[in-house]
Amino acid sequence: MADTQIVNKLARGEEDRIRPCVGASHCMWKKVNCIHNPASGRETILPHVIERSIRPGRRIVVVGGGPGGLEAARVAAERGHKVNLLEAASKLGGQVLIAAKATWRKDLIGIIDWRVGELERLGVEVRLNTLAGPDDVAALKPDGVIIATGGVPDLSWIEGAEHCTSVWDALNETAPAKGDAIVFDGTGRHAAVSAALHLGERGRPVHYVTLDDSMALEMEYPSRVVYRKRFAENGVKCTVDQQLTKVEKRGNRLLATFRHELTGKTMQLEAAEVIVECGTEPVTDVFDGLKGSSVNGGITDNDALLSCKSQTARPIAPSAFELHRIGDAVTSRGIHSAIYDAYRLVLAM
Ligand SMILES: Cc1cc2nc3c(=O)[nH]c(=O)nc-3n(C[C@H](O)[C@H](O)[C@H](O)COP(=O)(O)OP(=O)(O)OC[C@H]3O[C@@H](n4cnc5c(N)ncnc54)[C@H](O)[C@@H]3O)c2cc1C
Ligand code: SF4
Repeated sequence: MADTQIVNKLARGEEDRIRPCVGASHCMWKKVNCIHNPASGRETILPHVIERSIRPGRRIVVVGGGPGGLEAARVAAERGHKVNLLEAASKLGGQVLIAAKATWRKDLIGIIDWRVGELERLGVEVRLNTLAGPDDVAALKPDGVIIATGGVPDLSWIEGAEHCTSVWDALNETAPAKGDAIVFDGTGRHAAVSAALHLGERGRPVHYVTLDDSMALEMEYPSRVVYRKRFAENGVKCTVDQQLTKVEKRGNRLLATFRHELTGKTMQLEAAEVIVECGTEPVTDVFDGLKGSSVNGGITDNDALLSCKSQTARPIAPSAFELHRIGDAVTSRGIHSAIYDAYRLVLAM
């Protein structure tokens, strides 16, 4: 499923171009789709082989080198466009670099490595360490701009957010380890369970608390079983049905207050560190700064997107460009959504 062109690539001697199966088991989730091949399972609407555009040679600027931006750049280059990819960090990969830190999920990095190889082959100009602003994008005189700037951890809603650590910081180990930890999971996705396990495997006492009625609710069964087994092996405690409401200091420790989802009763837990996962908040500053000078005001025609047709807006003056947003820069989702957004949008450019 990850690469339906495997036989053709082998026949052409292109073994190094085979898109790897990264063992994400997204294909065992609600629908039969591959996490990083959006055409698999959608053969009636999406092609597996990208055709050259009938109007090649347009300048496409992609801002953000996470999975969404990498896919947008790859598809645009396959379509025969001239592509610039601007990435703020020193490495491509976005949040997948963090996701792949969890011990048993290292293969996820194949999603990034495969695309980086394809961009090199296709001659995409990649600029790292470039925190792009609207002026940097406009200076490239684009015909199309894809904003794939992702998101940042969404902690602002918590009373006492200043005392909390994000799962990004926990997995990146940006600060010295602080002893026992509470990991609150407000999404049921991979990030919180990965962080809890990461700390548990390093010998830290961890109490994982989730809003849902079971741990890791928003993922396929095989992954959930792996987390459950590894939680048990590493002594990670698990409490369900609790919403985090407040985090405050108690001496040199933290006190976290929760509300039971069904009874409304209060529960309090103390720990050295409180790690919180509630998805991401979109990063939209570049998008907002470019909206006014774009030909479509940054509005993506969703009917056209869903039917994989060209966006209706067309550049009308040499200085005008189409502007679109994809992936977590729209709303907090996942790798597949970011790649799927990119594929069907840019396929029609
Ligand atoms: C620990 C963890 C585990 C996860 N596990 C999974 C999983 O198993 N399955 C799944 O589907 N999803 C998972 N996710 C979520 C998934 O990684 C994200 O949804 C996905 O990476 C979003 O892709 P994106 O390209 O939209 O944005 P991002 O991956 O956030 O990338 C955005 C990029 O844009 C760059 N950028 C931002 N602003 C600028 C600017 N002004 N100029 C230049 N560059 C800029 C950033 O540096 C970043 O590299 C996980 C996330 C985490 C944190
Ligand atoms: S979803 Fe993951 S496990 Fe399934 S085919 Fe794709 S890469 Fe492989």
